[in-house]
Amino acid sequence: MPEGDTIHRTAIRLRSALAEAELTRFEASRLRGDRPRVGDRIHDVQAVGKHLLIRFDRDLVLHSHMKMTGSWHLYRTNERWRERAHLARAVLEVPGWVAVCFAAPIVQTYYDGAADSPIAHLGPDLCTDAVDFDTVLARCESLSTPGTSIAEVLLDQRIACGIGNVFKSETLWACRCDPFAPIESIEPRRRERLWRVASKQLRSNLQGGPRTTVPGGLAVYGRQRQPCRSCGTTIEMRHHGEQARSTYWCPNCQPTSTAASADER
Ligand SMILES: [Zn+2]
Repeated sequence: MPEGDTIHRTAIRLRSALAEAELTRFEASRLRGDRPRVGDRIHDVQAVGKHLLIRFDRDLVLHSHMKMTGSWHLYRTNERWRERAHLARAVLEVPGWVAVCFAAPIVQTYYDGAADSPIAHLGPDLCTDAVDFDTVLARCESLSTPGTSIAEVLLDQRIACGIGNVFKSETLWACRCDPFAPIESIEPRRRERLWRVASKQLRSNLQGGPRTTVPGGLAVYGRQRQPCRSCGTTIEMRHHGEQARSTYWCPNCQPTSTAASADER
């Protein structure tokens, strides 16, 4: 699944072609909400967490979320698409460029400032360079349920947005934190460090290329049964939580922190 860093890179690429341009074609057969019109100006392309927003005249915003399947492509006019046309969920054309959103499960529009804005629930975006970590900690306190593992809490986009499975596992390893420790067992200073490290990892991956969090790539994500880069212990992987998301960890560097979390295993 694309994480915050991927969506930010997509926004930068789309912005270079679309920002300040006039819409010459718009197609989105299953769009929910009002449609941008030919002749509308595109004001900006923005990533917020894992959401991509394209702003038009009249405060109209096209909102897309990639989930597991979606992606935005940018083509020169008349360039051959690299995906099949029937997978296109939105097609935006401006002079010289065509932006196509393929297979995204969420493509809808809303008016900026509307109470039902699809991004109103999101916490601070960890991909930006001025994250208010006090707000993150306060949102964690009010929104997380006791007993929830820190691995699940880090994925909660209402607390802070941008972290997906990759940076979740990488951050927990970097902080030597047991992924299955219940949130209430982790004191505020340790929580702050986790989100700070996640933000640093996300921001250092905004330039593109393969993701890296340690020299040579990733520390634990996708590395089950391989030796930990720090201590040589075999990396483990487990699906857990309501959505059975995968978590990778080193049992030696990230030992079980409490009896309660040991019971859950
Ligand atoms: Zn280790």
